Order: sequence, then C-alpha cells, then structure tokens
Amino acid sequence: MTAHPDAAVLDRLRQAVGPAGVLESPADTEPFRTSVGATFRGAAALVLRPASALEVAEVVRLCAEARIPIVPQAGNTGLAGGAQPDGSGAAVILSVDRMRKVRAVDVANDTLTVEAGVTLAEVQAEAERVDRLFPLTLASEGSCRIGGNLATNAGGTQVLRYGNMRALALGLEVVLPDGRIWDGLRGLRKDNAGYDLKQLFIGSEGTLGIITAAVLRLFPRPRAIATAFAAIPDPAAAIALLGQAKARLGDSLSAFELMRAPSLTHAIAAVPGLVSPFVEAYPWVLLIEASAQEGGESLAAGLETLLGEGLEDGLILDAVIAASGAQRRNLWALREAQAEAQAHAGKGVKHDISVPVSAIPAFVERADAALATRFPGILPFTFGHVGDGNLHYNPVMPADWTEEQRRARAGEINRIVHDVVADFGGSISAEHGLGQLRVAEAEHYKSAVELDLMRAVKAAIDPQCLMNPGKVLRAR
Ligand code: FAD
Repeated sequence: MTAHPDAAVLDRLRQAVGPAGVLESPADTEPFRTSVGATFRGAAALVLRPASALEVAEVVRLCAEARIPIVPQAGNTGLAGGAQPDGSGAAVILSVDRMRKVRAVDVANDTLTVEAGVTLAEVQAEAERVDRLFPLTLASEGSCRIGGNLATNAGGTQVLRYGNMRALALGLEVVLPDGRIWDGLRGLRKDNAGYDLKQLFIGSEGTLGIITAAVLRLFPRPRAIATAFAAIPDPAAAIALLGQAKARLGDSLSAFELMRAPSLTHAIAAVPGLVSPFVEAYPWVLLIEASAQEGGESLAAGLETLLGEGLEDGLILDAVIAASGAQRRNLWALREAQAEAQAHAGKGVKHDISVPVSAIPAFVERADAALATRFPGILPFTFGHVGDGNLHYNPVMPADWTEEQRRARAGEINRIVHDVVADFGGSISAEHGLGQLRVAEAEHYKSAVELDLMRAVKAAIDPQCLMNPGKVLRAR
C-alpha cells in the first residue's frame, strides 16, 4: 500500500534537497508532469531535484520509509510516458536534472564518468574536447540526459556500428529503492566477477533504482565521413543493399536509415529550408553513412562503388553523395525532421518495432496489406533504423475520420501491426521502452515465463513497488 505523503514527510523531503531543489506550484511542476507533445500528464506531490547522489539517497530513503512512490526523470523526452506519474498525486517526481558534473575523463582508458543529469549533447561535446567520440545520436540529444538514455537503453542512428546504451556503458552508480548506493562505477572492459548488475538497471525505465552516474565508453573520432541518399524501389532492395554495404564498407558503415516517400515530402513542407536532393519522387529512400579515422577519398570511393553497383543491379533508382558539409547536414535534417513530417502528414498511430533485419521486407508487406484491407485509405508512413531491424511504422489515419473514430480505431491498428511483429518474432518496443504506453500490450505478447522472471527481479530489488509503479510491469 502506498500513501499520500503527510505534511511532516513532505517537510523532510524539502529539507533533503534544500530550497533550490523543490518545485511545488502547479505552474512550476507542469513541465515535469507533462510528456513531450502532452501525450501523458500526471500529478505529483512534489518535484524534487537533488544535486548529488547523497541527496538522491536521502530522498529515496525517506520515501521508502513513508511508502511514497517515486517517478525518476531526466530530460523528459521519453515517448512512452515513463517519466510521468499517475493522476493520484501520491508520487514525487525525482528529477536528476541538477546532477550535471563530469566526474572524470580517462583518455587512455577511453572513458568518461558523468552524472545522470548531463545532457547527451554535453557528453558528445565533452568527448570531442578530448578528441574522442561518444556515438549515441538522437534527435532529442539537446534535451535528453544520460540517466534517461541509460534507463531507456536508447538507440538512435549509430547503433549499427557502436551499439545502444547497453554497449556504451561500462559502469553505473545507482541509488537502490531502500536508499543504499550501489557503486558500480567501474571502467572495465572485462569483468566476469559475478552477475553483470548494471545491465539490470539499463533499460529498466526507473523501475529498479535511480541511476546517478555512469562510466561511458569513448571511441576514436572519425575524420572522414561520406554520406549518401539512395532512392530504392522497396524494402527488399534496402536489405540487399545493406548486405552489400557491410561487405564493401565493413566497420566504417555507421548509419543505414530508411524513409518512405511521404516522409520526405512532408518533412520539406513542415520544416523551412529543407530541400529534396531528388527531382523525382521515389517510393523509398535510404540514408547511408560511412565514417573512418582516415582515408576520406577511399571511403567516398567505396560508397560510390556501392551506389554504382546498386544502380546497375536495379536496387537503386537514383542516388546522391553529399559533396559538402552543408549537403550532408541537409540529408540528415531530412531524416531528423521525421517527427515534424509525421505531425504534418496527420494523426499517426505510432509503433517502434523491431524484427530480424532479414524479415523487414516481409514485415512491411504483411503489415501494409493487413492495414489496407481493414482500413482502406490509411496512409503508410514509415522511417527508421533499418540497419538494426528497427522501424517507426506509423500509419497516418485518413483525414475524414472523426476524432471518435480515430480514438476507437487506434487500438485495433496497434493490434494489427503488433500481431504481425509477433509473427516474425519481433519486439513491440525496439528503443523507446514500455513506459506506461505499452504495459498492457507487453503482457499480451510476452510469455508467462518471461513475465514471471521480470516480476521476480522487480520483487527482489523493489519489494515495496515504489520505483516508478505502473511502468514496464503492472503489479498483480
Ligand atoms: P526521461 O524521458 O526523463 O525518462 C525516460 C525513462 O527513464 C522514464 O521511465 C524515467 O522514469 C526513466 N529515468 C529517467 N532518468 C532516470 C534515472 N536517472 N534513473 C532511473 N530511471 C530514469 N529514443 C531512442 O532510443 N532513439 C531515438 O532515435 C530517439 N529519437 C527521439 C527523437 C525525439 C524528437 C524525441 C522527442 C525522442 C526521441 N527518443 C529516441 C526518445 C527519448 O529521447 C529517449 O528515450 C531518451 O533516452 C530519454 O531520455 P530522457 O533523459 O529524456 O529520459
């Protein structure tokens, strides 16, 4: 049982973080209680913004004692409602946004130790300052924070080469649900001394503890980058080209992103200054990028050969290679503008799915056909990290549907798409997490054994169920 905090507990929580660390008025707490696009909104007794791991630990200890639920938050850019409390007002939001220290830079070990409130863009800049690369790249990188990136196991556009956050973190510091601090801030690349505990917290969306700091991996900074757009007839061509790109470009292949025709036209209409590199409209477009420490000319030559062979084989209909930094930025801007393009196209039903890379063409064909049969007129809208088997498959509902019809049919559209995903052994959340958005669906698609294991982990670490209740798993 959780309780609404009484006045005495609230006072102790205020004292734990000091006046600079508390927000109370509805106007001040509103940005924390509301998600991106106002899709999710909740109520909170307080928003607490501790400035150190010790302050986090004290807040968590007090909440554990008084049985107050805690909703952890970092940059609040999550898309699954994971950082929003329910409407009861019983929970506190614990934001790590004041924990902004870079604790250590170890260039020889290629690691950076940062607190959870450092933004992703700041981590990238800190890595660049020591002539290294931190490769995680998201359109939200100016606002999302490392604690949130870890808690959601964020992916983005460079996973193909560098992996997601699971692969980019070597160590964590975590405040456990009873207020103890686990110091797992090890910068080790080999460590087989028992369970890999950090992986429990990465991707747990705040349901097992509060990540307060992390040791992150750094990489050599690429000096040469070659970027191309390739118009292709269908997803099967994308997968054939992906195989050829891996063979030709090897490890230098760093991004392989797919967009469907409406993506480009709507991006250009929605965002001033964007231009299509093609005169004609094509059904599908790939953004392909390769990067390396040196050998810019051979990199560009490799990409050119790949595109030339693709044109000869009929896998590519048209292609351009960025000839300048400005052209490269325009190509990436078209890719990064997909959220705006989606909004411009109309009301979409969003899916963040993954299937085995080889199954992408069959998945698109089957999902398209199933939706078109049930809802003629639905507009396919698809983009994503096809090199990772991850698509944002977001069909747009016809403009003549009433608001009531949209609401009623969104669930059915979800089910149609996710059933096809399940048929291919895929996942209903490739990179955004389950949050509160997909909890019921996860219960539907995961096996009883998998759910039991997840519940056992939750019960072992958070027996009072105070850490982000209602997210990822529902109490039975
Ligand atoms: P928040 O939104 O604050 O929190 C997300 C979850 O993590 C919540 O469940 C929260 O409770 C938990 N949490 C936060 N901080 C902590 C902590 N310190 N300890 C424990 N739990 C915590 N995501 C991708 O993976 N790939 C993309 O390409 C991508 N593109 C995006 C583009 C846009 C325009 C937007 C708006 C979002 C995008 N996202 C993407 C989603 C989002 O940016 C990521 O999920 C990001 O990692 C969330 O970080 P955050 O700091 O905003 O976390």
